[in-house]
Amino acid sequence: MQELLEKIIKDCQPYTEEGRLANYIPELAKANKNALGICVMSDEGRTFCVGDYAVGFTMQSVVKPLILLLALLDKGVEQVCSLVGVEATGKPFDAFNYSDQALTGAHINPMVNTGAIALCTLINGATYEEKFERLLSLAKRMTGNPNLSLDTSVYLSEKATGHKNRALAYMLKAYGMIHEEVEDVVDLYFRACSIKVDCKDLANIARILADQGVDRKTGERIIEAEYTRYINAIMTTSGMYDGSGEFAFNVGIPAKSGVGGGIMAVVPRRMGIGIYAPALDKKGNSVAGRKALELLSKQLGLSIF
Ligand code: GLN
Repeated sequence: MQELLEKIIKDCQPYTEEGRLANYIPELAKANKNALGICVMSDEGRTFCVGDYAVGFTMQSVVKPLILLLALLDKGVEQVCSLVGVEATGKPFDAFNYSDQALTGAHINPMVNTGAIALCTLINGATYEEKFERLLSLAKRMTGNPNLSLDTSVYLSEKATGHKNRALAYMLKAYGMIHEEVEDVVDLYFRACSIKVDCKDLANIARILADQGVDRKTGERIIEAEYTRYINAIMTTSGMYDGSGEFAFNVGIPAKSGVGGGIMAVVPRRMGIGIYAPALDKKGNSVAGRKALELLSKQLGLSIF
């Protein structure tokens, strides 16, 4: 495995030149465009790391499965499904893809911004501070990393510029789908997106999702299998936004990308994968990261289809 990963890193390095760093969140444009790291963890926790696997980056949309998970843990499937749907949008992650006449849960997907922002309102906590602390502690449990923290510079950078997300939240409020103060809700969302991780952290979350919620290393059940099925299914249809169909076809595993350059990929019952390569394609997916997953999937026969 180690040898295979070394080869994949070498073959994919040129692809880091093809993408562009996200710059609509100014702080993200400071990343090293040529970075590329991979971590693969087998379900029982055997770990293989190559390249820039230890470089820290912000989760961005990779946190969306965790927001969904916490909403499920706090409020259950019924309440989550009454607020958000499961259909792929086929649109960019920040699209206003709704008709003027109606906006209902069926139009909102938790793997894109509107759905994730809406779900922030289902997280328990007396204050927004407490809601964030609860999300961070779930992230610590899922990554197995007690030192996880917020990247304050990225958080403040998005808070200063994230007006499109504010607009999406106001739209949710206009249609009566959320009732809280927009600034509080988006602040939680911005902080969630700015949780700093590395490839190992993502691989560990993915390993637990791959094993139906059980941490094989300790035998502890971290989450209900019913929730991992929900999350893995929705990552398959929507985790790479409007690139999800092509990704299903060529790579064939549930995965979630983020504009920080991370991809978390779940190979059910086999392994969790964390990738970092911050240069993105036009849809906001890591170019070299996507290519590395494709090579890995083809070499090891990982496609679930
Ligand atoms: N924080 C980013 C945003 O809301 C996350 C988007 C992404 O990673 N695709 O714009």
